[in-house]
Amino acid sequence: MINKENLKLGTERSAIRELFEYGKLQAEALGDDKVFDFSLGNPSTPAPKEVDEAIIDIIKNDSSVLVHGYTSAQGALSARKAIAASISKQSSVNVNPDEIYITCGAAASLCAVFGALSKNDDTEFIAIAPYFPEYKVFVNGRGAKLKVVPAKTDDFQIDFDCLSNLIGKNTAGIIINSPNNPSGRVYTRETLERLAEILEAKANEFGHPIYIISDEPYRELVYNNIEVPFIPEIYKNTIVCYSYSKTLSLPGERIGYVYVPSFAMNSAGLYAAVAGAARSMGYVCAPSLFQRVIEKCSNTRPNLEDYRHNRDLLYHSLTSFGYECASPDGAFYLFVKAPNGDGDRFSEMAKNKNVLIVPGASFGCKEFVRISYCVDTKKVECALPLFKELIEEC
Ligand code: PLP
Repeated sequence: MINKENLKLGTERSAIRELFEYGKLQAEALGDDKVFDFSLGNPSTPAPKEVDEAIIDIIKNDSSVLVHGYTSAQGALSARKAIAASISKQSSVNVNPDEIYITCGAAASLCAVFGALSKNDDTEFIAIAPYFPEYKVFVNGRGAKLKVVPAKTDDFQIDFDCLSNLIGKNTAGIIINSPNNPSGRVYTRETLERLAEILEAKANEFGHPIYIISDEPYRELVYNNIEVPFIPEIYKNTIVCYSYSKTLSLPGERIGYVYVPSFAMNSAGLYAAVAGAARSMGYVCAPSLFQRVIEKCSNTRPNLEDYRHNRDLLYHSLTSFGYECASPDGAFYLFVKAPNGDGDRFSEMAKNKNVLIVPGASFGCKEFVRISYCVDTKKVECALPLFKELIEEC
C-alpha cells in the first residue's frame, strides 16, 4: 500500500544530510571542538538586524490575523508589491505583483515550476553539472525526467555542445543556478547570451518554448563586484525561483517566490499552472509572518564579510597546500578536486579525521568534494592543518 519511491526517499537521506546528522552525533560524543562540519549550507551569519526589527515591529503592532492568519494562496498583495518593486529597482524589467507567487523557499518554487511545466512522463528538464542534488527528486516527483550536462571543469561554465545534443522535443526547461551550489561560480553574460541563442534556435526547431528555470538562492551572495546578470533581461522565457534562505539567513523560515515575467511565452497560463501545481502539493499561503517581514526587508542585503574572510582563508590555504579548487565568485561553497581523484574516498578519509565534506558524486562530479564555508572562522582555522595532512596522505 505504500508508495515505493516515496518510501525510498524517506528512508535514504541525501549525502549532505547523512553527513550533517553524523556530525551532530560526533559532536555530542567527542565535543563540538573536535568536529569540523562543512556539510550543510546553513548560513552562519545572523539575519540582518532589519529582519529582527521587522519581526518585533510586526508582532508588537499588527493584529493577530495579519501576523498569523492565512493570506491569499499566492501571498499577500502588500508583500508581492514589495517584491515586485524590489526586482524592478534592481533590474531593467518592470514587475507587476501579479507576476509573483510567494512560496516556502526555493524548494517549493522549483517544485511548483516543474509541476507547471510537466505535461506527461515524457517531459524532460536539463540540469548543468555540478547541480543541486534535490533537482532530481523534485523533477522525478512531478513525474518528469532529469537529464544532466556534464561539468565543464576548466571554468565551470556550460558545455554547449553537450547541452545542444541533450535538448529534444520533450525538453520543457533548463535549470540554471548562478552563483552556483556547489562550485561558487557565476555564469558570465557571454555564457548566458550563448545559452539564450541556443534555446531560441531549439524552440524554433521544436515549435515550443524551452524555459530557463533560474534557481537563485545565492543571487546577492557575490564577492569582488562580479556581475550576476539578471536572466529575464537576456532570455524572455525565464522563470525565476528565488529564496531568502541564504541571502537573509532565514532557511528555517521557508520563504521565497516564483517570478513569471509577463513577457514570457504563455505567461498567464504559466502563472496559473504554477499556482495550480503549488496548490496540488499543499504549498498555498507561505508563512504569513515572514511574508510581512519580506515586505519590510525586500531591499535588505546580506553582510558578506565573514563569508568573504572564510572563502579567502580556505581558498588561499588549500591552493598553497596543493589542492585544485574552482575559484569561487559567490555563494559559500568551495568545490575542490579530490587529490586522490575520487571524491567518495577522499570524503571518507576526511570523515576519519572528523572533517565533514560532501562527495561531489551527488552534484554530478565524482572527482570533487564540496566544502561549505558558512561556518565559524575558528572551525576553518582549526581544520586547515587537517586539510594539509589529508593531501599529504594522498
Ligand atoms: N537551490 C539550491 C541551489 C540550493 O542550494 C538550495 C538550498 O541549499 C535550494 C535550492 C533550496 O533552498 P530553500 O531553502 O530556499 O528551499
